[in-house]
Amino acid sequence: MPVCPNCKYEYVNGITKCPDCGEDLVDELPPEVVLNEADWVVVYTTSFDYEAEMLKGNLESAGISVMILSQKDSSFPAPGDLSIIKLLVKKEDADNAVTFLNEFKKNLESEDEEDEA
Ligand SMILES: [Zn+2]
Repeated sequence: MPVCPNCKYEYVNGITKCPDCGEDLVDELPPEVVLNEADWVVVYTTSFDYEAEMLKGNLESAGISVMILSQKDSSFPAPGDLSIIKLLVKKEDADNAVTFLNEFKKNLESEDEEDEA
């Protein structure tokens, strides 16, 4: 799995740059820098609380445990006003979660026109 050498977060395949710091992701880190949260993988990032909460609810109703990490919770200031919220799932659920999220986004996009406020 791609991982950011700077933030130490893992991302699902297909993401090539870290959304937090813009660093190119690498295939793996040396073992000593791997986080305690190594069992958790970032499957989705967003700037919107409501989107993160909505996806968390949907994933959990599909039986997938979700953890939300936000830069608002950490002590270092986010650049600009863009706050990246990360959705993490357990590694064993990552494939299911990605499939689920892709389906979900597809549905959202097809409903965009009628739901747009
Ligand atoms: Zn990073």
